[in-house]
Amino acid sequence: MIPGNMQEHGFNLVSIIKHAARWHGHVEVVTNKVEGGIHRINYADLYDRVKKLANALDKLGLKSGDRIGTMAWNSWRHLECWYAIAGKGSICHTLNPRLFPDQLDYIVNHAENRFLVVDTTFLPVIANVIDRLKTVEGIIVLTSKDNMPDTSGFKIPVHCYEEMIKDEPSTYDWPTLDENAASSLCYTSGTTGNPKGVLYSHRSNMIHAMVSGGADIFNMTACDSFLMIVPMFHANSWGLSFGVPMIGGKLVMTGPHMDGASVYKLMTEEKCTVSGAVPTVWTGLLDYLDANDLKIPHLRETFIGGSAVPRSMIERFDKDYGVQVIQAWGMTEMSPLGTINRPLPFWDELSYEERMAVRCKQGRPAFYVDMKIVDDDGNELPRDGVAFGRLLVKGPFIVERYYKMEESALDDDGWFDTGDVANIDQYGIMQITDRAKDVIKSGGEWISSVDIENTAVGHPELNIAACIGVKHEKWEERPLLVAVKQEGCDPSKQSILDLVASEHAKWQVPDDVIFIEEMPLTATGKIDKKPLRAKYENFYS
Ligand code: AMP
Repeated sequence: MIPGNMQEHGFNLVSIIKHAARWHGHVEVVTNKVEGGIHRINYADLYDRVKKLANALDKLGLKSGDRIGTMAWNSWRHLECWYAIAGKGSICHTLNPRLFPDQLDYIVNHAENRFLVVDTTFLPVIANVIDRLKTVEGIIVLTSKDNMPDTSGFKIPVHCYEEMIKDEPSTYDWPTLDENAASSLCYTSGTTGNPKGVLYSHRSNMIHAMVSGGADIFNMTACDSFLMIVPMFHANSWGLSFGVPMIGGKLVMTGPHMDGASVYKLMTEEKCTVSGAVPTVWTGLLDYLDANDLKIPHLRETFIGGSAVPRSMIERFDKDYGVQVIQAWGMTEMSPLGTINRPLPFWDELSYEERMAVRCKQGRPAFYVDMKIVDDDGNELPRDGVAFGRLLVKGPFIVERYYKMEESALDDDGWFDTGDVANIDQYGIMQITDRAKDVIKSGGEWISSVDIENTAVGHPELNIAACIGVKHEKWEERPLLVAVKQEGCDPSKQSILDLVASEHAKWQVPDDVIFIEEMPLTATGKIDKKPLRAKYENFYS
């Protein structure tokens, strides 16, 4: 090999915020604070605080490779933690506050977190499990002296964030890291067994951020004001905590305030042009806009992912608000970007209906994401938009093995099984038809629960719906729709089934509808079908 003659720069994620500070220093990071009210800081000042924090963490004795847990909303302080912790060679471990207590203590113990950085909101959550956290030596509360709660009940040291960094120097000599060094850790709550950790590296995050900055991916520039609703504790914040500062965009963060009214106020006042969140958050915003006859003229587009985006949501954004919805698909194991559904030239030739059908798909793979669909024997299936099978992926920001696991998570040819079932059409556009475990098999025929749900929630009087397979004497399984009504509405079962029947074959239409008060959700806000299946498994028997 003849080595190239170029400069050697190992990737350290801190270079992203350093770049933002030096070249977009005046650009703001705006947060709707936990305590209420707006906080503003620019990238230059934020980077100074990142360096102060790195010094403070050194003083606490936190070393390279140590895991530091964060349980926090999206905020400028949380962002500072991400960069200071990773930049100094430690590992930033985001904890999802919606986890059940025993999942939480399993994760903290498994990751052997030495410190926890916590928003005041979550101190009670930590207090609840602290006696079971074997490795935690101290807690840092993300607040100022004035807002510091009473922490006398804790037997370990509790530090106030602002007090801890205030006298530290705003200079720091960042270490030269091996670019493959771990930067951050995020657990994914598996459907079976214990949660599993995905350990990202500086390299994987850096490549992911560079890829996601492309015009055909997140399509953002330094002119954009980006509303980051997707929580930093979920799926690596879709890479946006790195991607937005990298291009010098204004970063607007919701803090804990993710209801329709708060999101509307923040996005309007900060003239947000782009945003990203899971469908449930957008339902809240759209309902609020409808109810109050409001518009969102600044918003150009939003990417939506995490679960399938119903057609009705794409149309509401489009027709009523002039906002382009771009569907994205990915997973914690993929950093998380997998595919995104941006237009191709052939879309111009399509009728409205045809175009809508394409827009409801999950999209084309980003650069450095390879994918294929396979049958149960592992044979690759054709890309014809019809054949469907298990979706396998490969690439430099996709997990190789779970944290502390000996065995690889890949098959012999290096593919990772996403657990999703999908088809891919001749243009390379992928469509998720189901989670492997959620597919319904009725009389030997597959029914996509996602498809049925998407149609059902188009019913104006339904808030959310889940389609599950329920034991059936004759057909083995039959679909059952479990739904929550829109507040103040009382739709008939038949009107919902008629709507589903208008778009699906007769045998795919659920045999019945059950109304419940509240939909069980997982810690990441997705419909949790496990309790529904357990409760209704004998409904048709
Ligand atoms: P998580 O790691 O919690 O983000 O979950 C990843 C899983 O969410 C994927 O494997 C999919 O099952 C699901 N998912 C993410 N985005 C989409 C999407 N746009 N449409 C359908 N399912 C999605």
